[in-house]
Amino acid sequence: MNDGTTGRLAMLEAAAERHPSLPREAVVKEDVLRTGLAFSPEALKLAAQFKAKAYFIFSFDLVPLKEMGKGEHWSAPEEVWLEGGAWGLRPTIISVRLNPHSPYRVEATGEGEVQLTVEGTPITQVKFPPVPEYYTRTMANGKRVIEIAPTIEWGYLVYLTVFRICQYFGDAEECQFCDINNNYRQQIQEGRPYTGVKSVEEILEALEIIASTDSASRAYTITGGSITSRLKGMTEAEFYAQYAEAIESRFPGRWIGKMVTQALPKSEAKRFKDAGIRIYHPNYEVWDERLFPILCPGKDRYVGRAEWHRRILDAAEIFGPAHVIPNFVGGIEMSKPHGFTDVEEAIRSTGAGLEFFMSRGICPRFTTWCAEPLTRLGKDNAGGAPLEYHLRLLETWRDTHAKYKLPVPPGYGDPGSGRAVFSVSSFMDVIADGVPAASA
Ligand code: SF4
Repeated sequence: MNDGTTGRLAMLEAAAERHPSLPREAVVKEDVLRTGLAFSPEALKLAAQFKAKAYFIFSFDLVPLKEMGKGEHWSAPEEVWLEGGAWGLRPTIISVRLNPHSPYRVEATGEGEVQLTVEGTPITQVKFPPVPEYYTRTMANGKRVIEIAPTIEWGYLVYLTVFRICQYFGDAEECQFCDINNNYRQQIQEGRPYTGVKSVEEILEALEIIASTDSASRAYTITGGSITSRLKGMTEAEFYAQYAEAIESRFPGRWIGKMVTQALPKSEAKRFKDAGIRIYHPNYEVWDERLFPILCPGKDRYVGRAEWHRRILDAAEIFGPAHVIPNFVGGIEMSKPHGFTDVEEAIRSTGAGLEFFMSRGICPRFTTWCAEPLTRLGKDNAGGAPLEYHLRLLETWRDTHAKYKLPVPPGYGDPGSGRAVFSVSSFMDVIADGVPAASA
């Protein structure tokens, strides 16, 4: 496959050979996620006819919008589907993180086909996601469904960022890897319609359109920034619960309801369960005791690491352990200047967190970190964490998950390479055949 002439391809192939138990698809996926994708002008022209990147919460791009010389952010697809080619890849879905300088470039072949190249060498064919019927619809207030209720994971997940701002503000509070506030500002400056606080009514109207035109979506996520004081007179639990209550009373059981908020006290998390939410994501972001206060200063000050973890365990009593799925951002434990410099030390630390939760039946999952430039970590970490870290993390997550005989995390679609739709990391791609589904 590799003729030895392209550095990145040689690096990728060597990485795959060092990790023979990982699907090659996952090796490519992790490297593309941490590095980003470039598009040729012709590929962008083709992509413009497909389902566009909606900027569903963060930018996830490796350059700011104002540096997108080809207007990539207006035409790029939400995700790419890789399949076949020299690597013989099984279908692999990857979220699009734009980086015009990436060695991974999506190019048109001239026959209406698209391929992924690495430093000019084609490695696999690419498909773009079709435009769902509901993306062509406009709501009564003139807004488009793509803005209010975009879907990701090849249409599986309706992503409802109902509050696009976080009340953790500035260096001393914002999570150092997060660009939610700066992304909101740049989208407004660019002129993208980008509703800061979505109303319950517009969410219901958008879902009505989706429910009447679509059968691919299976889950929704309600999320947004943290609320440290009040928003529209409501606490964080009250604000986010109102959406779940409205959705579940209008469309009972139509989708698997998922909620991403801070780790809230038990009585507040119970509101979500009572509203019909089935999966709770109180994201702990990074396990390491030294790094948590540095990388999540607001969460550390307002809640604290030990209390955050206690609340995750409390939530397991409400939702059942398999239905509490806290996220962490895979890679930030190696961020400069404070993170680990040694891959194995970083894995030992993150692995201890996986042991802590998985031994109790709670299955954390992760998104693959890319160092967005508008975050505090962005300026020192252009290359992100080493690919070796991401591959060791996949092995460690897979092996710890197997060690505790945990079920497939619910709410993510089918597991396994060639079937997984989760597009911002490969944790679903590495689950072996035969792992049972979680009970409802
Ligand atoms: S709590 Fe942290 S990760 Fe979540 S939106 Fe706020 S700054 Fe971002």
